Formats: sequence, structure tokens, C-alpha cells
Amino acid sequence: MKVIIIGMWNSFPKGLEPTSGYLVQKDGVSILLDAGSGVAANVQKYTSIHDIDHIFLSHYHHDHAGDIEAFMLARKMARQLKRVDRNLKIYGPESGTIVKTIRRAKYSTFMPIRAQKHYTVGPFQIEFHRNEHPVETYAMRVTDNEGSVFVHTSDSSYRSSLVRFAFGADLLIIDCKLYEGFDGKVDGHMNAEQAGRLASKSDVQMTLLANLPHHGELEVLLDSAKQHPTNVVRLAEAGMKIEI
Ligand SMILES: [Zn+2]
Repeated sequence: MKVIIIGMWNSFPKGLEPTSGYLVQKDGVSILLDAGSGVAANVQKYTSIHDIDHIFLSHYHHDHAGDIEAFMLARKMARQLKRVDRNLKIYGPESGTIVKTIRRAKYSTFMPIRAQKHYTVGPFQIEFHRNEHPVETYAMRVTDNEGSVFVHTSDSSYRSSLVRFAFGADLLIIDCKLYEGFDGKVDGHMNAEQAGRLASKSDVQMTLLANLPHHGELEVLLDSAKQHPTNVVRLAEAGMKIEI
């Protein structure tokens, strides 16, 4: 599969670079994990917005889901112009005020995410892990029909169950907006040292740090993660394409 990083900033876009959004493609099928601010505009560098029929939202904080209504409006227009004959499927947690809006929309279909559930979309199987975050949030594990695995943690404090969930992935993207020394337990985030620990314990091939903070030196964030022995660890960058 090919994973394209559409955006990876925390809170708000940095210039023209969006917050959380990951386009995953194989065999002509595209799925999108998260639709944060700026993702609806920038994803169109890589695909037509009308070719994305499946969007998985880890949770409804703005930096992960702020653009979802733009995608819904795009689908509404495409349906009305008879350019597309399929509804947009939006997979997400059942708790959230946006859920009512999605359920009411004529051209979008809501698909609930739960920990024990999985979905199959084209060559992809998508599984979920319940995170520790102030709102209902899920990590996602995407496995393709050749066994390649991509895991995105989304927002969570460190949990040993995430190690099991991410274990053996070819690509692990860890949301870690906090520098080492900050305790993310209260608001449900990992710091860079914990991200490195997760990468090391889950024995993944490649790790990217995402949900990056706008302040401080990101190289310091990276160095903190690298103190744990692991394979490749890098900072995620908008436009990065990874084949696994
Ligand atoms: Zn969040």
C-alpha cells in the first residue's frame, strides 16, 4: 500500500500544511484516515476528492475531523451533478455532536467504530483500539491483502495495549505533541520519550512522529524518541509518500 501524509500538525494548519490526514491507496482504492483542517484542500494534490468514498475519523477534535463537512458537501455536489453514484461512508466513534449531522445527511452514511469491530474496504482491513483521550478516540490498524500493516495511533496517552495493537507494523505513525518531560496523562497525549518507547516495544519497521507541536525545536522531539533502540524514526512531513 501507499501511505501519503496529507498533514500532521497539531491544533491548526501550519501555513498551507494541514493537521491530521493520511491517504492510503492500493489497487485503485483510496481511504482517508482523519480529515483535519486543510486536508480537503491538500488531498486533491494526490486524488480527486470524488474518488474518496471512505473516511475514517479517529475522533472529532478539530485537528482530526475539522474538514469532514467539506468532504460531505463535495459528495453532495457530486451526487446532485450525477458525477458519483455512491454515498460517502464516514466511519467514526458514536459519541459526538457531528454524528447527528452525518446521520441526517442524504449523501453520507455513518459507520460506527468500536474496539471489537473491523471493516473491509477493497484490499484493506481496518481494526480499532480504544485510546485514552478526553473524548472517544481510536487508533487504527490497516492491513492490506498482502499483509502489509500501517498503524496510526491518533491521540492517546501511553498504554501498553497500544504496543500489542501496533506490534510488527511496517509503518507506525505516533501522535505525540509533547516534548519529553511533559505529562500527557491528563489530556490524553504521549510525549516524545513515550512515543519512542512505543516504537521500540512494538518492533515496527518505520516510525513517524506526527500531531507535531508548533513550538519548540522538532529535532529535540525526535532525539527524545530516538533514545529507545528501534528501527527508523523520523518526523512526519506533509507530502511524504511511503510504500510498504
Ligand atoms: Zn484529540
